[in-house]
Amino acid sequence: MLVRMNYKYEMFPTERQTQTLDSWLSICRQQYNSALLDKQRFYQKNKTGLSRTQLQKQQTADKQKIPLLKTVPSQPLQEVFFRLERAYKNFFEGRAHYPKLKKHKDYNSLTFTQFGIEKRHVKNKATSEVKVRAVRYAASLDESNHLLISKLGAVYINFHRPLEGKVKQVTIKRQGSRWFAIFSVEKHVNETVDFPMQSTGIDVGIQKFAVLSDGTTVENPKFLLKEEKKLKRAQKKHSRMKKGSSNWKKQRRKVQRLHIKVANQRRDFLHKLSYRLSKTYQFVFVEDLMIRNMVKNRHLAKAIHDAGWGAFGNMLDYKCNNNGGELVRIKPHYTSQDCSGCEARVKKSLSIRTHVCKLCGTILDRDHNAAINIEKAGLALLGLCPTA
Ligand SMILES: [Zn+2]
Repeated sequence: MLVRMNYKYEMFPTERQTQTLDSWLSICRQQYNSALLDKQRFYQKNKTGLSRTQLQKQQTADKQKIPLLKTVPSQPLQEVFFRLERAYKNFFEGRAHYPKLKKHKDYNSLTFTQFGIEKRHVKNKATSEVKVRAVRYAASLDESNHLLISKLGAVYINFHRPLEGKVKQVTIKRQGSRWFAIFSVEKHVNETVDFPMQSTGIDVGIQKFAVLSDGTTVENPKFLLKEEKKLKRAQKKHSRMKKGSSNWKKQRRKVQRLHIKVANQRRDFLHKLSYRLSKTYQFVFVEDLMIRNMVKNRHLAKAIHDAGWGAFGNMLDYKCNNNGGELVRIKPHYTSQDCSGCEARVKKSLSIRTHVCKLCGTILDRDHNAAINIEKAGLALLGLCPTA
């Protein structure tokens, strides 16, 4: 679903830029007021309205006589008439009073109805050659993320949160002595989805691919293990052959083909699994493996790498996102050691596959116990409660 959203940020014009903006606001206000009076006079005389296009034509003519008008970029200057048109429409449709003349304190914003840099096809009249030219509108962002306004320059903006989506227009607003930039963007969002379950924790296994906090075990697919074994055999055979021989070349192609096959099958498996998870759970909690110190144990690191966990985490991340859910990475903190029943620490080496707590009597598969702890930590992080 495509929606229109506004992002508001504080901007910090220099003293000189502030004077310019103040003067633009005052010129736009005068344009608004004189257009309103023109409309009234025109109506009294002709018993018909003065249209926005007529007003714009008048403004273009006025620009030749009144140099001050030319100090304002034409977009906000013309946008004044849209505002007036809206004010009349609201009046006629019973939503507002009849439009009034605006005082200084009532006129505080300028709108640039186009934004950014757009590619345009420009035809050379002489040669009829068509070229693509980038056109920068009167309002855009420069390379250092300053708001670039023609006839004003670059203004620093405090992007306290990221600006997302395609910017359609920007409004500069004066509020007391502060200035704000309001970006109107078009953005794709997902419609609200009902998830069958609130959350799950996932522990990454070595023998098993993953274990969920409800005890569900996701095995490494058998066909994949079979193909991987085949690949390993083929690689070994290849390494024993005479380098550069025709058999060696033939075997090399075979290894490459198997490589691609295994990679495709693995990706396919990961796509299906992450899709299913993203559709089932609103929140999926995993350990942040970047933090998990695995450098010490190179064997474990390799095993997890081979399990494709990195790629899986990324897939899960964007699939959850696209579906309106969220993948949350938590800090690994004794997730496999602590008891999910009573929180007592039960130390165990990697070879011990079962969690046995003598204090509360909890007996669980090691990875299942860890998955429960991961979900608990995630829920605590978000300030949520587990749902039964
Ligand atoms: Zn316990």
